[in-house]
Amino acid sequence: MFKKILIANRGEIALRIQRACREMGIKSVVVYSEADRDAKYVKLADEAVCIGPAASALSYLNMPAIISTAEVTDAEAIHPGYGFLSENADFAERVEQSGFVFIGPTPDAIRTMGDKVSAKQSMIKAGVPCVPGSEGALPDDPKEIIKIGRAVGYPVIIKAAGGGGGRGMRVVHTEAALIHAVQTTRAEAGAAFGNPAVYMEKFLENPRHIEIQVLADEHKNAVWLGERDCSMQRRHQKIIEEAPAPGIPRRVIEKIGDRCAAACKRIGYRGAGTFEFLYENGEFYFIEMNTRVQVEHPVTELVTGIDIVQMQIRVAAGEKLPFQQRQIQMRGHAIECRVNAEDPYKFTPSPGRITTWHAPGGPGVRVDSHVYANYFVPPNYDSMIGKIITHGDTRDQALARMRIALSETVVEGILTNIPLHRELMVDAKFVEGGTSIHYLEGWMSQHKR
Ligand code: ADP
Repeated sequence: MFKKILIANRGEIALRIQRACREMGIKSVVVYSEADRDAKYVKLADEAVCIGPAASALSYLNMPAIISTAEVTDAEAIHPGYGFLSENADFAERVEQSGFVFIGPTPDAIRTMGDKVSAKQSMIKAGVPCVPGSEGALPDDPKEIIKIGRAVGYPVIIKAAGGGGGRGMRVVHTEAALIHAVQTTRAEAGAAFGNPAVYMEKFLENPRHIEIQVLADEHKNAVWLGERDCSMQRRHQKIIEEAPAPGIPRRVIEKIGDRCAAACKRIGYRGAGTFEFLYENGEFYFIEMNTRVQVEHPVTELVTGIDIVQMQIRVAAGEKLPFQQRQIQMRGHAIECRVNAEDPYKFTPSPGRITTWHAPGGPGVRVDSHVYANYFVPPNYDSMIGKIITHGDTRDQALARMRIALSETVVEGILTNIPLHRELMVDAKFVEGGTSIHYLEGWMSQHKR
């Protein structure tokens, strides 16, 4: 096992990885920007190295600075967390070429899955059902594009092959609007992701977002750890996640889960990963694979009792997965609310000094957060300041515990979305379970203030 790991990330996930290291007796080095000097994980780290100014491009995305910090601190492996360099195949390659272990899949696997067109092609080959659409990237010839549009059937969605974070997508309802939409998405994708390739999918009108967590080792073992329902989204960004997905028969989930584990074996996948699907009328449609730990991994940890971050570290060190599929049992239900420093209804970011911070507690409550009273939330990064996760024997119990946890939470000095979560946890439709990816935005427009 590694003696020392460098954590190339910030915020709650840097603390989460540090906790996993500590439990395993591994020393951790954190890199941080000037804006994160006072963060909790920096103070708690065995070693901490400032690698640059607040701007991510100069710090958390600065590959030479991160790799040379690993060199001078004698770290053996680098954990990239999520976001930043976690899905950058060139970074993974440079880490390995410099003699360190990248805690994640191989650069090749990251590259294949990072291009959504090649990801879909490899999933089709592996027998994973995908959203119907163009075979590969769209051609240049407008006549061909029109033909593809007719074959797929309207409405369609044009998506950038290199897209991510909910950006680079456009819904098209009529043939008349198609060519213009393809051109605009191409231009945007070229500018934003350095890759103008776009593809077409059938636009599903009322799906749920259901994803399957997988773990695989280098010894051809792969398992799936149940599913998560992440349908509560605003602008394609998740804010509430839960496991298991309410109301979907187990045999339907098991079939898709087994397919995902089989696909991992087929492509020689290593590490943790997530297969994201849209689910509509009893059918699953693959949309993309994330080759890293997800923000919402705790709900899976609570229902399976498996520490996903520790498993990432163990398989990166070459160990075999310590269990087989039949040993994985799901117990109870878990829900996560992402706590963002933002106006709860207008969603404008609200960075600044936190004057009061009371985190909730009690049975079945987990809080993953790097903040504390008197902590200054820097304006430079994502607005998420933590996650509240509750677990219960049933969904009703997990929901009740979440209501209590949210009622106990006090954050002053900045705005957070906790008031929004409090309302959603008593919303009749959400409480019933099984809402679609459009539900939250519909709810917001009915609850304008
Ligand atoms: P990103 O990598 O930017 O997160 P995804 O391909 O995962 O992009 O899609 C993000 C979200 O966009 C999905 O969760 C869903 O809400 C919506 N979406 C993507 N593809 C489709 C589709 N074919 N039909 C309907 N909604 C879609």
